[in-house]
Amino acid sequence: MAATPQFDVAVLGGGTGGYTAAIRAAQLGQTTAVIEAARLGGTCLHIGCIPTKALLESSGLFHKLHDRGPEYGISASDVAYDYERIATRRDGVVNQLWKGVQGLVRKNRIEVVQGCGVLEGGGRIRVDDRAIQAGAIIVATGSSPRSLPGIEFDGERIINSDHATLARTLPGSVATIGAGAVGVESATFYRQMGADVTLIEALDRLVPLEDEDVSRALLQAFKRAGIDCRVGARVRGARVTKRGVTVQLEDGEVQSEQLLIAVGRGPNSKDIGLDRAGVELDQRGFVRVDEWMRTSAEGVWAIGDVVGGFLLAHAAAHEGVVAAEDIAGKRVVPMEQDLVTRCTYSTPEIASVGLTEAQAREKGHDVKTGKFPFTANARALIHGETAGFAKLVADAKTGQLLGAHVIGVQATELIGEPALARLFQGDAWEVARNIHPHPTLSEVIGEAALAADGVALNI
Ligand code: NAD
Repeated sequence: MAATPQFDVAVLGGGTGGYTAAIRAAQLGQTTAVIEAARLGGTCLHIGCIPTKALLESSGLFHKLHDRGPEYGISASDVAYDYERIATRRDGVVNQLWKGVQGLVRKNRIEVVQGCGVLEGGGRIRVDDRAIQAGAIIVATGSSPRSLPGIEFDGERIINSDHATLARTLPGSVATIGAGAVGVESATFYRQMGADVTLIEALDRLVPLEDEDVSRALLQAFKRAGIDCRVGARVRGARVTKRGVTVQLEDGEVQSEQLLIAVGRGPNSKDIGLDRAGVELDQRGFVRVDEWMRTSAEGVWAIGDVVGGFLLAHAAAHEGVVAAEDIAGKRVVPMEQDLVTRCTYSTPEIASVGLTEAQAREKGHDVKTGKFPFTANARALIHGETAGFAKLVADAKTGQLLGAHVIGVQATELIGEPALARLFQGDAWEVARNIHPHPTLSEVIGEAALAADGVALNI
């Protein structure tokens, strides 16, 4: 057997969280290894955020030219798509970023160990016949799509987000169970490409984790786009037929060529030796951590989807930085879930940070809110995208900004400003004093802040 290598830090899993943790550890002078079973970049880069947004870029452009060209003075009656080329572009974007990640890892002298690692306790990780000994271990093994009891993925008729993302053909009709991020992004994509889409959600609103006003606005926009939304729907089962899939609901059936299950993801915490290493899991199998990403086992940290919370790549990367700094004895600030921005790339886009209005009230705040619609924003009108609004939630007594919720064009870019204001523990009126450039979409944030005091200027 090969000699046991020594590392200061070994990261199990090279996704966005894992490779970011490794880079930060290397920057802090730690000798670092990343153990990766598949490809550096993980779910986000290869089957998640990146390829799906590349697909949405194509579908959005196709939809705009095909269905809305004349509105912009463009006749484009023969617009057609070639899905093979859309898929090739998607793969090109992924590959370019993948090369970038590999380059970053090389530049930081991080050793990549290819294989499936299993913790053995005492700082040791077994990767096939190699034993890796590390002073600190960061578990960053991510998550996988879940299904529903009695419904199995076959990859053809009944699919999950991995199958949908990597497909090289498009179905003519899709039913999706679950109206969280995957459900509403995929509904946007398929509908923009011209498919018939039925969205089935158990709770009484789309994107149930978002502010209720946002859910209402999305439902309105989706209905207008011709997406059949069934909220408060109970799924009894699903059956593959000759022509597709039949989903049985409590009050009827939905037929489609494909069924996409988008009911959430579960942690990849099984069969990687966590029990042997003394790492505690919660009831759902997520690794328990403190605000410095420390697990219950001495010398083992965990970050990203495997610890739960918001299963988002940027949260994972930030947690990776927190863990690496803690390991190096350079604590800066602990992880604050409350500061994580949430972004959903549906049309209209959705982005939020902090508390919803209902959560702020539940926490006992005397709440004031300010709302400003995109219909009253010049740049949105120029874009031809006026659905949605920005809504700020603040404490009425102190003025402190508690949350921000944006639904509309480029909402995911706009959320950075209120997120920064929250990091700085800012007040709504301070956001209003920020001089927003004109004409830009960012003005909706300033105006929503003014609206919290009843003094919006442009409405
Ligand atoms: P999710 O948890 O966001 O949403 C799942 C939805 O399915 C919920 O609304 C839930 O009420 C519903 N549901 C659950 N069981 C159901 C049932 N039996 N019948 C009908 N509806 C049911 O999960 P997701 O959309 O699968 O996404 C997985 C994870 O990946 C999430 O944590 C998400 O945040 C993340 N993700 C993020 C992005 C993004 O940030 N843009 C994109 C995709 C995925």
